[in-house]
Amino acid sequence: MAPQYDAVVVGAGFGGMGAGIELDRLGLSNYVILERENDLGGTWHVNHYPGLAVDIASVTYSYSFEPNPYWSRLFAPGKELKRYAEHVADKYGLRRRMRFGAVVDGARWDEENQHWVVSVAGGETVTGRYLLTATGFLSQPYTPPFPGIESFAGKIIHTTAWEDDFDLTGRRAAIIGTGATAVQLVPEVAKKAAALTVFQRTPIWVVPKVDAPIPAPVQKLFASVPATQKAARLVNTSMLEALMVVGVLHFKQAKALNKGAGLLAKAHLRAQVRDKRTREQLTPHYDFGCKRPTFSNHYFKTFNKPHVRLETNSIDHVEADGIVTADGHKTEIDTLILATGFNLWDVNFPAVEIIGRDGANLGKFWRDNRFQAYEGITVPKFPNFLSLNSPYSYSGLSYFTTIEAQMKHMGRLFGELFRRGETTFEVTEAANARFLDTVTDKLGASVFYGGDCATARSYYFNQHGEAALLRPNSTVSTHRQAVSFPLEDYVYGVPA
Ligand code: NAP
Repeated sequence: MAPQYDAVVVGAGFGGMGAGIELDRLGLSNYVILERENDLGGTWHVNHYPGLAVDIASVTYSYSFEPNPYWSRLFAPGKELKRYAEHVADKYGLRRRMRFGAVVDGARWDEENQHWVVSVAGGETVTGRYLLTATGFLSQPYTPPFPGIESFAGKIIHTTAWEDDFDLTGRRAAIIGTGATAVQLVPEVAKKAAALTVFQRTPIWVVPKVDAPIPAPVQKLFASVPATQKAARLVNTSMLEALMVVGVLHFKQAKALNKGAGLLAKAHLRAQVRDKRTREQLTPHYDFGCKRPTFSNHYFKTFNKPHVRLETNSIDHVEADGIVTADGHKTEIDTLILATGFNLWDVNFPAVEIIGRDGANLGKFWRDNRFQAYEGITVPKFPNFLSLNSPYSYSGLSYFTTIEAQMKHMGRLFGELFRRGETTFEVTEAANARFLDTVTDKLGASVFYGGDCATARSYYFNQHGEAALLRPNSTVSTHRQAVSFPLEDYVYGVPA
């Protein structure tokens, strides 16, 4: 029985859109993109809290083949990213392939028909020769089970469910969490709230953000001479590469650079926060890079304001009108903002149930064994399946590096498949094991294992204490491997 589609893509964020563009390039144009939200853009559709902006400069945080000369700032606000996603979807004809409000429950490999059967909430099934999941890394919002939270009588709002018309003016607000989201949100909430308490469990490394509007003449130059924007991208990407790859992944060899980044962040803190005790509380006690660092010129300064307070005692419970900390102190509030991030390792790898050959369950396989995926994209026993958000797949700091490397991997893999006149592929156990050994080996030099990450509570680490998210490669070598991996790492056609 022929499947309905060449391919089923799950997720209409930048990852799923990149996959769609590549499928078209490969001539696999009969595909559908299933998206649980009511519009495209992934993270940039879901998140619209005040202060949202990229924290990777926009020249880099965009598809290299679709530069946008008109970013208003070096670090574009969230709204522009959403508009950019819409532009890409329109230009590449992706929108007509997208189905919104389609919540995928799971997918099962149909051995007899050699295709995937994807279940959509409501009872519908969709079949596709190939399955590509592009469900994001940070897409399952996390609310900690604070005792008593259900009794809170005021307004509770998670940053991923921001209500644009909610007015913070005069509110006595609390923000729980001090990750990259809170760093952007805290200064904005402080502008309106009458009182703001920020509940911090683990401080975050914050370095200055070299941000400015991009003047119209520069935008015009980018539009008329695209090579200029390409050059800007190259310079910025190289700087990020130095920070991330050298300072974090090659910690052992380049400790000085890592320590330098930490010193820069500490100097930034000293220059911005007057009170010594607050400065101490905001200083991380783990190495730079154990947890994703962030960039801001406004976050630290906010703690100088008289109506803003940093609370570092741990939260004991929530009452109808406040938060009580372990020391017995109650902070009275009427608005509780949860900047508590995402659950990555319990519910997101994979985001939907995936059942492969011989009944293999991907989530169970990863949990019973180690989290793993060949080149961060394919897994043995899961034929015709590309898991775009896999362990060890994230390369560099900008997600677009990963997306475009995976598009190249698709190009090489499907090119070979077509050359052989086959329709089924599966990565070999041996290739997968070799890749896992290589990344494990290389990560030994990273800050995750060579540095002091004990107090970081970083989502880079999974429940087994393994830093299984980032791929320990330079972005250049990730891209090189995507176009040169051994073709015999895959089996093509149905095994006899
Ligand atoms: P996050 O980094 O996971 O931060 C969640 C925060 O909630 C942490 O400070 C965490 O404290 C706190 N928290 C969680 N459970 C808690 C509990 N039980 N009690 C007290 N505090 C608790 O999430 P995020 O800030 O949303 O950022 C996630 C990622 O999204 C970022 O690292 C970044 O990759 C991305 N992001 C990017 C941008 C951008 O501009 N491009 C903006 C925002 C976010 P602990 O650290 O102690 O666990």
